Amino acid sequence: MKSYYRIILISYFITLSVVTKNTFAQTGWEVCSQGKTNNQNYSPNYSMITPHNPFNVVHYKLYFDLYNNFLTPFPRSFNASEVVTFRVDTALSSIHLDAVNTSLTIDSVGLSAISFTHTNNNINIQLDNMYQPDDTVSVKIFYRHLNVSDQAFYVGNGFVFTTNAPEGARKWFPCVDHPSDKATFELIAKFPSTVKFGSNGRLADSVQIADTIYHHWISRDPIATYLMTLSGKVNYNLDILYWQNPFSPGDSIPVRFYWNTGENISNLNNIKTQIMPMMTHYSNLFGEYPFEKNGFATLNNLFPWGGMEDQSLIHLCPNCWDEALVAHEFGHQWFGDLISPATWSDVWLNEGFATYCEALWLEYTNGYSAYKQEINIHAQNYFGGNPGWPIYNPSWSVVTPGINTLYNFAITYVKGSCVLHMLRYVVGDSLFFEILHSYASDPIYKYDIVNTSILNDKVNSVTGEDYDWFFDQWVYSPNHPVYQNTYSFSGSNMDWDVALTINQTQQNTVFFEMPVEIKIKFFDLTDTTFIAMNDTNNRLFSFHFNKQPTELVFDPNNEIVLKISNTVLVSANEDENIPSEFILEQNYPNPFNPNTIIRYQLPETGFVTLKVFDVLGNEVAALVNEEKTAGSYEIEFNSHSDESQNLPAGRQGLSSGIYFYQLKVENKFIETKKLVLMK
Ligand SMILES: [Zn+2]
Repeated sequence: MKSYYRIILISYFITLSVVTKNTFAQTGWEVCSQGKTNNQNYSPNYSMITPHNPFNVVHYKLYFDLYNNFLTPFPRSFNASEVVTFRVDTALSSIHLDAVNTSLTIDSVGLSAISFTHTNNNINIQLDNMYQPDDTVSVKIFYRHLNVSDQAFYVGNGFVFTTNAPEGARKWFPCVDHPSDKATFELIAKFPSTVKFGSNGRLADSVQIADTIYHHWISRDPIATYLMTLSGKVNYNLDILYWQNPFSPGDSIPVRFYWNTGENISNLNNIKTQIMPMMTHYSNLFGEYPFEKNGFATLNNLFPWGGMEDQSLIHLCPNCWDEALVAHEFGHQWFGDLISPATWSDVWLNEGFATYCEALWLEYTNGYSAYKQEINIHAQNYFGGNPGWPIYNPSWSVVTPGINTLYNFAITYVKGSCVLHMLRYVVGDSLFFEILHSYASDPIYKYDIVNTSILNDKVNSVTGEDYDWFFDQWVYSPNHPVYQNTYSFSGSNMDWDVALTINQTQQNTVFFEMPVEIKIKFFDLTDTTFIAMNDTNNRLFSFHFNKQPTELVFDPNNEIVLKISNTVLVSANEDENIPSEFILEQNYPNPFNPNTIIRYQLPETGFVTLKVFDVLGNEVAALVNEEKTAGSYEIEFNSHSDESQNLPAGRQGLSSGIYFYQLKVENKFIETKKLVLMK
């Protein structure tokens, strides 16, 4: 599913010779259609009973008389009957189905059903027996859809269509309206013969009698109820192409295009052209296209979304033959449709993956830089709209939240996509694509349901390593790392050290353990890049080089796309870090009168003396004479004082001339430098 959205972003990437600073300032928002903001396909009460049913629906067979809905005055009411077949898990003599009272009136029940009540959006059906585990039972329900606008069954101007996500199916047929209870689906419907009509699965049969036509659609593959659909229109345009299945030579899969007269034909033709390599490419990435047909239908302005990934019949907004939108919705055929979310807490497994598919398609058509540019835009959209909750919210599995929360663009869509990019960065391309393929085509889960821990387990099993920490940080915890890094260079000639402290300052989430690329540029215009594992906060990384470094770039390729980062060069003596070597610096100022500063660094604790001598070797001052811990120090030398500087008795001050100062660390280091007093 995808909304309309627009992006405005302003990004600055400032690179100076000694300071690297990434400053992001952006805003992103969704322009929601009227239908989206008014979408009422959820209610906090709806989901309370569905996940724990003692039975599992295996098949829905619907009989709809939609003849009048296509004719003026376009009523929303229709007569229907339905056979629900279910397998018993726990002995039972009654069942509950979801059915919204304001949309549906139940007239009678049959087959194994003997009576019913319909209150609080639930039908309680009494069965004719106590049924035992593994029994298969069918009930028949005769009902009417009322002439109401319910944001699920849409009628308008020759159009009839449905859109369910997340919980609208119960407004047009009684069902167990939860994504974990997938079932096969069958629809026999009656229309005027001028209507072209589509549904899930394949068109099994069409019978025309005078001005009336009956279509019989069957999906052999199980579908989550939010993906069950129908759409039809008087004088709809319908083109059928065929994808030659490279995995099964000689086999082809129909691709249906339902479209409205007046739409942009060149955009439509582009999709007709691109869908063939897209089907092949996605099949290569995720496993062979899993359904018996593929299809797209543009609807009218009543449709509340940009697109909806109804299984094997994707719905699009009018004239929306947009390649990115199609890349997204078609990705859902695996992520959401083939493997459906066990609960709504797992909705990011749909939307994060489908959003990531947009970038993958760009990578296929335009190369890696186009992919990465798209991921960067996803990150900008996250920063523009991050509401501060995590991707995975356990409570959503109990009470389905409002759609602006469940389908929050910044979290469920683009943060999910960025997390997949960072997973790719962390495990590497080869393992990442192996994970994608194995996850999407695992025979244990396909045509069934998945959850976030199944994905986590898949990452662990494919890589042979434990990536729970990655999920804990990026999926189960909110927000993102904020880096305030410092680095310093020290050394001379062919002996240089780089000290980098990676520091995360965020207070609103956990510490983010991540491998970080570090790029060092040198005075000779060469550079080198390596990876530092930032596994504890405030960790100091030290690197040694045989040429002078001029710049350090933190995460030069912006692989950790969800971060705020500032990396600053500090001079060695301002750096509070432990120095990497003994250093005695030249005093400053020099020549001096009467005061000068002497700085020195100790990489370890030692007994330190710092003394000043005249040219004859006489000690004229002892500035330090004690044990010092590792660190950077400075001391002021005053040529006048004979008290604080511990001058020999009787000496009131030094005369102009050359002197020497010597730093000595017992058994470890000694160095002497010259200083000039000029009165
Ligand atoms: Zn989507």
